[in-house]
Amino acid sequence: MSTSKFPSRKFVSVDPSKCTGCGICEYACALEKEKNNINPLRSRIRVVRMTPMFNFALACRFCKDAKCLTACPEKALSQSEQTGIIRVEEEKCKGCDWCIQACPHGGITIYSDAYARIAVACDLCDGEPKCVEFCPEEALELVGTDEEAEKRFNEALKELPAEIERLTKIIKNKDWKPLLAKAEEMSLRVSEKLESLNKKATAENENK
Ligand code: SF4
Repeated sequence: MSTSKFPSRKFVSVDPSKCTGCGICEYACALEKEKNNINPLRSRIRVVRMTPMFNFALACRFCKDAKCLTACPEKALSQSEQTGIIRVEEEKCKGCDWCIQACPHGGITIYSDAYARIAVACDLCDGEPKCVEFCPEEALELVGTDEEAEKRFNEALKELPAEIERLTKIIKNKDWKPLLAKAEEMSLRVSEKLESLNKKATAENENK
């Protein structure tokens, strides 16, 4: 029997070399978690667009020493002993932001509107995260360790200067064709996923 903490820990990790910053993961998450509300501000995964060429998405990592848990003054957060998934007790959460300040991974976020201000965190959609399913670039996957997640991130970061050089050369030579072809392919993949999301949203509205 495994004695390690959170023996089934898995979390969503991004490969920034594939992520285009399209934001479909945020829409897929919001639709799944908030049902008829496809507002990406309600997403449990958040896209960070650092440069046009370096994008990534952040979600809760279910840390073994979750800083958000100890930071919460309302004891509104709890953690599964099996998976490490963080649960937010909405009645207790006051939306104070302390969990966000404490998290080193940008994994927990605050949703705020006219009616509520509460922390929200990824719960893996019962093991089948919709962000992973709908990402048009297959940039997201489930990993079990921080090392795996960091390796993907650092490798993408290492490749960035060569990628910038390659693109600079293309632009200087005005050789647009490959860039346009790539953009068109990407846009097709995004359209397909948006269409599937729209179908899902329509079906959910009809079943209400
Ligand atoms: S859906 Fe995939 S490619 Fe688009 S922003 Fe999210 S992780 Fe990046």
